[in-house]
Amino acid sequence: MNEIFDVAIVGAGPAGMMAGISSKTSGNCVCILEKNDQAGKKLLISGKGRCNVTTSKDIHEIVTAFGENGKFLYGTLSQFSNQDVINFFESREVPLKEERGDRMFPVSDKSISILNCLLFELKKKNVNIFYNFSVKKITKNNSHFKISDGENIVIAKKIIITTGGKSYPETGSTGDGYRFAESFGHNVVRPVPALVPLIVHSGKLNSLAGLSLKNVELTFTSNGEVFSHEFGEMLFTHKGISGPIVLKLSKKVYLELTGGNKVTAKIDLKPKLDETTLRQRIIREIQTAPKKEYQSLLATLLPKLLITYAIYVTKIDKHHQSSTLDKTQITSLINFLKNFTFEIDGVESIDNAIVTHGGVDIKEIDRKTMESKITPGVYFAGEIICLDGPTGGFNMQKAFSTGYVAGKSAS
Ligand SMILES: Cc1cc2nc3c(=O)[nH]c(=O)nc-3n(C[C@H](O)[C@H](O)[C@H](O)COP(=O)(O)OP(=O)(O)OC[C@H]3O[C@@H](n4cnc5c(N)ncnc54)[C@H](O)[C@@H]3O)c2cc1C
Repeated sequence: MNEIFDVAIVGAGPAGMMAGISSKTSGNCVCILEKNDQAGKKLLISGKGRCNVTTSKDIHEIVTAFGENGKFLYGTLSQFSNQDVINFFESREVPLKEERGDRMFPVSDKSISILNCLLFELKKKNVNIFYNFSVKKITKNNSHFKISDGENIVIAKKIIITTGGKSYPETGSTGDGYRFAESFGHNVVRPVPALVPLIVHSGKLNSLAGLSLKNVELTFTSNGEVFSHEFGEMLFTHKGISGPIVLKLSKKVYLELTGGNKVTAKIDLKPKLDETTLRQRIIREIQTAPKKEYQSLLATLLPKLLITYAIYVTKIDKHHQSSTLDKTQITSLINFLKNFTFEIDGVESIDNAIVTHGGVDIKEIDRKTMESKITPGVYFAGEIICLDGPTGGFNMQKAFSTGYVAGKSAS
């Protein structure tokens, strides 16, 4: 470690590895410092071990998915787009496939294919990875940076901070980079959980753990006002609710709850049927088999796990003969199917969030180079930047695009 590196990258996640590949491509002496004894721990568990590596959506849709600050990404996506990510892996014998929702995965269905490809490329380009190097302090003296883990020191002309966010700390992302950014004069937007499961304390609801619902509409209200809704797939857990549409809306729920507001969830189990059509359907079911018990009628409308819950909410005996259900009872059933409502008691901790909302303020980063506008020679890439996207390969794409550009620019 006696040499002076042109570029030192802190963190060997997807952003750091891509930064290493693109900076070395330009012929520099580059190293990556990683606190773990292996690279890409979070990448390995991403996409349930399959790594949703990017999306096939067009660049404008990607930018839009990141919300009002998404435009920040035009500068990097125009230099390394999702098509470039696809080409990068496919040209290195890691074919990708597209799945529902424009999500791109390796054909192998194994995130290790993605990690091995990145590591192979780094090795080919002689980028040194120093494992078990947990950076504690970075200082700038004249034109050099001194990076220390308490025992060893690495000196570099430029640094790229790719330490990730603060979620799933067991993967190494413990938010250390925020401290380094602050030491270089940056404002760090408070990290809070995004894409995080929600907590529901109702004991009865917890009996639905494991139930997955498809094609439902989830609406959140606070003080009677709707603040977000989404159509799609969700699931019940032992602690509350999760799944794609829940994760997508979770940041807004978090902000409402921390603002002191009470949040109510409402699930429309039959969003494609209005109440009149739904009533006609129920009546048709009853006419077809009038002797059917109420619980069997419910089986024609609901997944098995929800039947007992529907009986509990509608307070109708499960053996009640369907043909003798009166108008009020049918209305009560329709009300449950269209307005399955419960309180949200909290969100799980940032440790269980898929991504972190917050981090280095984008106003202080040059969007075309990823260089700090405050301290020249410092670059940022990946989740450490305050810009989080929804599920669907967007966050990995952001890590690759910003990592690629930071590496190229630092060279
Ligand atoms: C369960 C889960 C599933 C996910 N699935 C997907 C998915 O399928 N698709 C998708 O797009 N996104 C997914 N994400 C999000 C995505 O994985 C992250 O956004 C992405 O990994 C961020 O990349 P990064 O390189 O910025 O940071 P990270 O991947 O967090 O890597 C940061 C690296 O820096 C190292 N580091 C930290 N501090 C120090 C230090 N002081 N010294 C040295 N090294 C340090 C860490 O050990 C780590 O290796 C998922 C996240 C989780 C938690």
